[in-house]
Amino acid sequence: MGEALRTVMSWQNAGKDLVCMRRKIAVIGGGAAGMMAAIQAACAGAHVTVYEKNDRVGKKILSTGNGKCNFSNEVMNAGCYYGSGSACVEELYQRFGVGETKAFFRKLGMRVRDRNGYLYPASEQAATVLDVLRYETERLGIRIDTGCSVTDIRRKKEASEKGFLTVITKDRGEERYDAVILACGGKAAPRTGSDGSGFAIAKKLGHRIVPVVPALTALRCEENYFKQVAGVRCDARLTLYIDERAVCSVRGELQLTDYGISGIPVFQFSRVAAYALQKQNRTVVGIDFMPEDEDNRFDNGPAFWNERWKRQKSQSMEQFVTGIVNKKIGLLLLKLSGIKETDRAGGLSPSRRKKLEKLFRDLMVTVRETNSFEQAQVSAGGVDFGEVTDKLESVKVPGVFFAGEILDIDGICGGYNLQWAWSSGAVAGRAAAEDI
Ligand SMILES: Cc1cc2nc3c(=O)[nH]c(=O)nc-3n(C[C@H](O)[C@H](O)[C@H](O)COP(=O)(O)OP(=O)(O)OC[C@H]3O[C@@H](n4cnc5c(N)ncnc54)[C@H](O)[C@@H]3O)c2cc1C
Repeated sequence: MGEALRTVMSWQNAGKDLVCMRRKIAVIGGGAAGMMAAIQAACAGAHVTVYEKNDRVGKKILSTGNGKCNFSNEVMNAGCYYGSGSACVEELYQRFGVGETKAFFRKLGMRVRDRNGYLYPASEQAATVLDVLRYETERLGIRIDTGCSVTDIRRKKEASEKGFLTVITKDRGEERYDAVILACGGKAAPRTGSDGSGFAIAKKLGHRIVPVVPALTALRCEENYFKQVAGVRCDARLTLYIDERAVCSVRGELQLTDYGISGIPVFQFSRVAAYALQKQNRTVVGIDFMPEDEDNRFDNGPAFWNERWKRQKSQSMEQFVTGIVNKKIGLLLLKLSGIKETDRAGGLSPSRRKKLEKLFRDLMVTVRETNSFEQAQVSAGGVDFGEVTDKLESVKVPGVFFAGEILDIDGICGGYNLQWAWSSGAVAGRAAAEDI
């Protein structure tokens, strides 16, 4: 049998005729992972049906990367992922990683643009990614059942260990399959369809679900001064403290909102904060508004301050803080130090000066909660990796596979979550089609 015809066949003796049957696979969820899984399974010869609860597939893909879809990243390693699956990422990416993903999309006709390692479609339109996936599913004859919500997967009692899984839908009855790939996503951005129903299905199959929390999201803080600085974007180093212990530190563009802190550096550790808050640990972020780098090494230490106090001693404190960082921040820090804008710089006591200097380097804000799943880009938690094989097959119910965000793995910002969707979708899709 040729490679193109790697249809998995089971032969039945029907009288004197031999009947050839293609392996029948259901994919639950037509997101990034589900579409990749469907395409790979169909390429391996399977007859594939995708069940999608929305009226169209790939809704979330359209909103990724601010509409440009940062679909992967050239820098890829286990350190970019959290969750019980993070340790397996590198081995799995050897089977289908960044190189295979670029080749896959190029083969579908999409040119790729590399922006400092962050990969986008050259069209800079997320719709391109979805379009080429849709065209490929059409070419391969994949059946797509939109507006169809799956509620359950059952194994027929009389069935052998593998095969004969029944997919139960909300209002379109049920159908039997040889294998089922659960790619329902997590709980983030439920307006795009991922409302957590996949976790309920996995739980009914006997799987443990690692608690699910919002990730890649903003943090809401207790302090009441945020309205004063809302809208400010600035370079900062942020350190996350859990119960007084520094657990991670990230530098990047901080965005201040009327309720707290946002921006990429906040997103990167928001899932760590989310789990800490869930355990009711004290969660604090230290903000250094004058982070050190090669260019400003002498612009933030004692020499800088001593000289400034000396040279600008006749100025008002409003004038004194002007030019250090964004002025709104300077004025806020004055207020927090109990210094009036009209006070003379030369008249301040050394302790007042030190207090102000410290706030520029280490403003502590107390996190009350993360933003909700509606505003989160991904959810952390999900199906425990300890209960899936290296082919992403359930150890509880053979024939059931998992792909994408439904699994307990989440990446940092920068194309890592979509890469996980492509890689896990490809691995699960191929394995489901080849499994006999
Ligand atoms: C605003 C935003 C921007 C993002 N930007 C990026 C980015 O630039 N780069 C990046 O790497 N990641 C980004 N992400 C994250 C990334 O989009 C997701 O991690 C990824 O799409 C997850 O793919 P998935 O297929 O596992 O799940 P989803 O894309 O959520 O797809 C799951 C699908 O399953 C369907 N479904 C759910 N339950 C059922 C059911 N019971 N029956 C039938 N169908 C069901 C849903 O309707 C949905 O279509 C972004 C996310 C958001 C919200």
